[in-house]
Amino acid sequence: MRMFAVTSMGMRLEAIALIALGTMTVGATAQSVSPRKAAQPARTESAPCPSGWLLDVDVCVPLPAEIADGPELQDVANAHRDRQGNWVRYDQIPRLPERPADYDLYRYPIPPGMPGGHAVISGYDLDQPNERQRRGPTLSHVGHGGVDLPQKKGTPIPMAALEHQEGDAEVLFVGDLFGRTVITLHTLREAGQVREYVLLFGHLDTPAPGIAKGAHLAVGDLVGTVGDTGSPELVHLHLEARRVRAGVNIRNEPGYKLVANECTIVCDPRNVLPLR
Ligand SMILES: [Zn+2]
Repeated sequence: MRMFAVTSMGMRLEAIALIALGTMTVGATAQSVSPRKAAQPARTESAPCPSGWLLDVDVCVPLPAEIADGPELQDVANAHRDRQGNWVRYDQIPRLPERPADYDLYRYPIPPGMPGGHAVISGYDLDQPNERQRRGPTLSHVGHGGVDLPQKKGTPIPMAALEHQEGDAEVLFVGDLFGRTVITLHTLREAGQVREYVLLFGHLDTPAPGIAKGAHLAVGDLVGTVGDTGSPELVHLHLEARRVRAGVNIRNEPGYKLVANECTIVCDPRNVLPLR
């Protein structure tokens, strides 16, 4: 099928991967987009990015490749129509069947901040059909590749171990990406295989003092504090999990590549978060 051929070819991340506007952050790294409409050149004129790249917030991200459209794409779960009307397709790892769907059954790094003891205000929807993915009049992009955990500004975020994690987490990135962001590396033993995942902590008020690339964080060590950087409409932690692709030495990659489809695949966080 044509669209699958195109997908296996495309390994380019797309602008929406890095955007954090309003309550909207998108974890999907799209690979391709149809030329239903010309891409909007907005924000590129004064952008300090090379040709073919787009400034998003304060990082340069490559523009998506273009592919031919096809009616069959509309039935694919890991695709959505972006706000320009183009079909965008991406890799993602859906929730595994043995992992519960109920977000309340999982343990998060911060206490529940919602009425009724719930923690998650907005969950992972990149495995949902187009019409069920998150969007809205104030959200410039479509879909959500993590969980949003509302809490008071300044709430400390201690490091939590993922399911089947071995050893400490290692800091890969501290800087501006999804607002102020910390990204950590975790080694998990899954079904006899050792796999690496990155965890993205977005919209922080402040990263932990002194935290820097290469630091090791044990369970309970401070990652940062909850904030609203890059998300002025909602104080919350955006927590996103991504599996490192085989053969990628993720420690050598710059910050924006840590969330790029060519290096990591966005993953339903329920696959790796510990159960309560
Ligand atoms: Zn989010």
